[in-house]
Amino acid sequence: MTREPCDIAVVGSGFSGSLMARVLAVLGYDVVLLERGTHPRFAIGESTTPLANLSLERLGTRYGLADCYRMATHGRWIQHLPDVRRGLKRGFTFYRHHPGEAFADRGFDSERLLVAASPNDSVSDTHWVRADVDHHFVRQATQAGVEYRDRTELTAARFESDRVRLSGTREGSALEIDAAFVIDASGPGGFLARQLQIPSGLEQTHTRSGLVFSHFAGVGAVPGVVPGLPQGPYPDDWAAVHHLIDEGWMYSLQFDHGITSAGFALTSRGILGLGSTSDPDRLWAMLLERYPTIGVLFADADPLMPIKFVPGIQHRLTRAAGSRWAMLPHAFAFVDPLFSTGIAWSLRAIERLAHTFEAHATTRSVPNARELDRYASMLTLEADQIDHMVAAAYEAMAHFDLFTAHAMLYFATVSFSEVKQRVTPSDDVEWNGFLGVEDPVLEPLPRESLRRLRDITQGRGETGTAEARRRYSEWATAAIAPRNVAGLADPARHNLYPVDLDVLMERHSLLGMTRDQLEEALPGLRGMAPEPIFADRRAAGRSTSPAGPRATTPRAPAPR
Ligand SMILES: Cc1cc2nc3c(=O)[nH]c(=O)nc-3n(C[C@H](O)[C@H](O)[C@H](O)COP(=O)(O)OP(=O)(O)OC[C@H]3O[C@@H](n4cnc5c(N)ncnc54)[C@H](O)[C@@H]3O)c2cc1C
Repeated sequence: MTREPCDIAVVGSGFSGSLMARVLAVLGYDVVLLERGTHPRFAIGESTTPLANLSLERLGTRYGLADCYRMATHGRWIQHLPDVRRGLKRGFTFYRHHPGEAFADRGFDSERLLVAASPNDSVSDTHWVRADVDHHFVRQATQAGVEYRDRTELTAARFESDRVRLSGTREGSALEIDAAFVIDASGPGGFLARQLQIPSGLEQTHTRSGLVFSHFAGVGAVPGVVPGLPQGPYPDDWAAVHHLIDEGWMYSLQFDHGITSAGFALTSRGILGLGSTSDPDRLWAMLLERYPTIGVLFADADPLMPIKFVPGIQHRLTRAAGSRWAMLPHAFAFVDPLFSTGIAWSLRAIERLAHTFEAHATTRSVPNARELDRYASMLTLEADQIDHMVAAAYEAMAHFDLFTAHAMLYFATVSFSEVKQRVTPSDDVEWNGFLGVEDPVLEPLPRESLRRLRDITQGRGETGTAEARRRYSEWATAAIAPRNVAGLADPARHNLYPVDLDVLMERHSLLGMTRDQLEEALPGLRGMAPEPIFADRRAAGRSTSPAGPRATTPRAPAPR
């Protein structure tokens, strides 16, 4: 029997568990990271966003993690970490396909929406090759002093008044971890959900989808298959590409080394309409046949692993933290890949827990009930918000006009939040609600959008009248107006939205700033700020005395 005392046990070594463990080690805590599998291993959830990368930059800067700071833009990443594979993501691309019809090039009237997330390749977001990224983060965690135990099968968690005892086996031997606090980063593995018998909260949520997916070599590019589309703000394919279909939607994420992660997220109605088959190859083939342009794009594509089908990808619990424990978001809830919320939300939660522990680091003690309540309440509100935003998007897929109008709610919310964080950085920015939570203008919009869209679609995918769709679009445009710093919902753009700093300057008052104040803050937006100086923090954690080191790097405003 191996018995290990530690301050904090982190269960699950996806990127979020490893990064959380590493930050805590940097703060001087004794941390054990427990993983039931091994690295490298395949994982899904690859597409980052500006908000994800802002969190990554802040974590890098605050805790002296140079790699995190550098992985926050494509340019820095390929310069400093070329061996960790990734893809260029310039924005969000959407096409609406119809059964039996090739995607129609109608010039500016095509059912196509492009929203740039960055002004150029160098400062752009990325798609993570999770096998590489997660492996990188676990290696960095061990270098920071985290004790990493893979191939560990945990069987029990016993909560006592001042300790938590985790027991299980590792390579045939019994293992017991005696910790003051447990962070559950086991994702849908649901370690603490089972141990604490936390009830599911799924029945109160709205989004339901199944997923058929793999990684592929040899996927075609849309401009090659549909040549002559009007030029967009970036090449269509260097993005999170979304193909909207009657049954749901498909994501297609291209990595720099020529591999594409792709999958169809299908509604229950969609799966029913496809004959309720659960055979992944059959489902895949049926969908490629039904949507000819997607069929051409994937005609020569070879799956690098068997195509898989998961009938329901959502999970949700009723509690995210309690005495001596907290969950990272993916252990608490998952809604859907749509709008790429998972990585950004996870990183925001890591920041919150990191700051909370930071306040206790000198005594290596753990967060109190009030702090954990605050954390848990935020995650609950945010999980609901994501669910409403995504469920409304599924309703809106009934008609492309509805979809583009609803998508403006999402893009207005995240672009306002991004600009705010960049131009007015604050020390507790991580407690800002995710996806508009606690913003009096933005918070009610996803729920209201879902209500309005259901009135139109009747929950049956009906497209409603042209008048009903027009009224919905007018509502969405007016609803985002007080936060629309990005010039969204502008018919003159023909659904092709670049990053437009001139529009932002014109709308300075929406940020509560004068034109001069905004001008002064612009270097933060344009990525002109110099890289912080990173001290070498290796092996800082476990070997240090109580009140171990804090990162000493300068806290630069988030540059881009
Ligand atoms: C289909 C799909 C597509 C997605 N697409 C996107 C996207 O494009 N963009 C985005 O931002 N997010 C996306 N997400 C969400 C994203 O996958 C998650 O936010 C992310 O994986 C969370 O990482 P994590 O480290 O918290 O958990 P995970 O990646 O789930 O890692 C959990 C780890 O815990 C380990 N584990 C599980 N149980 C135990 C146990 N009992 N003991 C020890 N170890 C255990 C597992 O082996 C694993 O290593 C997607 C999710 C899905 C399902």
